[in-house]
Amino acid sequence: MASDANGRAAPLVGVLALQGDFEDHQVSLEALGLRTTQVRSAAQLGAIDALVLPGGESTTMLKLLELEDLWEPLGAALRSGVPTLATCAGMILLAQSVEDPAQRCYGLLPITVVRNGYGRQYESGTFALTPATDELPTDLEGTFIRAPRVTAVTGACEVLARRGADPVLLRKGNLLAAAFHPELCVGHPVTSIFAAMVRAVADSA
Ligand code: GLN
Repeated sequence: MASDANGRAAPLVGVLALQGDFEDHQVSLEALGLRTTQVRSAAQLGAIDALVLPGGESTTMLKLLELEDLWEPLGAALRSGVPTLATCAGMILLAQSVEDPAQRCYGLLPITVVRNGYGRQYESGTFALTPATDELPTDLEGTFIRAPRVTAVTGACEVLARRGADPVLLRKGNLLAAAFHPELCVGHPVTSIFAAMVRAVADSA
């Protein structure tokens, strides 16, 4: 089992595993020494130190969250301040407002997003990003797949990176959200930022 320098078990990250690329998140987090577990029920939310909302199809995730009676328990976990990484469809779930078309969201991140805002599959790809923090390297890249576009930041939150003028990596408290997919590249700097957030909270507990 992964453990820290004091022999304590490494923090356990619950990866929402209803749909989408949850296994890629598990691989990239375990490469950094964190433990992961797949979350499909409310009971499984009890034991975790951190959460990941993966990419996939946000409308399908919404349907499954309702079907599994997970909408409320997951919302309570997110509001509790547990460190959370949300990518692409996951970022859509956290937004304040979703357009094109409008859909239900948790409203925990003060952003407006337009689904598929960079076009559909044809325009997907890996792009150079501009970091806005020295926590990230200057040669930062991100892979966008039918990604949401942040069209407005409507409240206090940090913009950590941009694609052109668009915010694509945002942080508010313990919520870290990316329009792109760091989990597709093991060792991506965004995964390292998240792992540091998770360890900081676990160490202070
Ligand atoms: N286009 C998807 C949606 O609107 C998100 C795509 C992704 O997560 N890669 O939910």
